[in-house]
Amino acid sequence: MAKMTPLLKRNEQFASTYTPGPLGPPAAQVVIVTCLDHRVDPAIVLGLQLSDAVVIRNTGGRVTPAVINDIAYLAFLAGELFNGQVAAEGLFEVAVVHHTQCGTGFLADAGFRHRAAEAIARPEAALEAWAVADPHATVEADVELLLASPLLSPKVSVSGHVYDIATGRVTTVLDDRHPQLAGNN
Ligand SMILES: [Zn+2]
Repeated sequence: MAKMTPLLKRNEQFASTYTPGPLGPPAAQVVIVTCLDHRVDPAIVLGLQLSDAVVIRNTGGRVTPAVINDIAYLAFLAGELFNGQVAAEGLFEVAVVHHTQCGTGFLADAGFRHRAAEAIARPEAALEAWAVADPHATVEADVELLLASPLLSPKVSVSGHVYDIATGRVTTVLDDRHPQLAGNN
């Protein structure tokens, strides 16, 4: 609690000028999947304002079954609640953003991975799959994984990007694409 005290003071400032907005689709029509690393906060890095984008963060910003479930639910919810308000080209774009110097990169080392697996009671193979040692490679793999999921709505597109901690720059690795519908191409 004590460490939260200064942040709660900041919240008091925030609340003093806050105006609540109506429930609606995210203004930027983007869902960001990225790492929980405190150096890659997408609100700061991408200049997001309140209600601009949905942000899903986990270790490495990996496309896990839980992330796929979240995105499937968001697509369902947007379709149910905002069908008349969403753009003709689709519900939203999922932007997967991996970054350089990711803390999961240490998991590429066998000794580190072995100790981490013991400490958090996860199989070593799962931790190996977690590792973002080369963010360009992992972001590409995760975009393909998401596009291949039968749970992904065809009204959702997916893109891949890398954030460089050294420069502050986000570079697009894969432009946004919709999933191939079964039977098409
Ligand atoms: Zn990271």
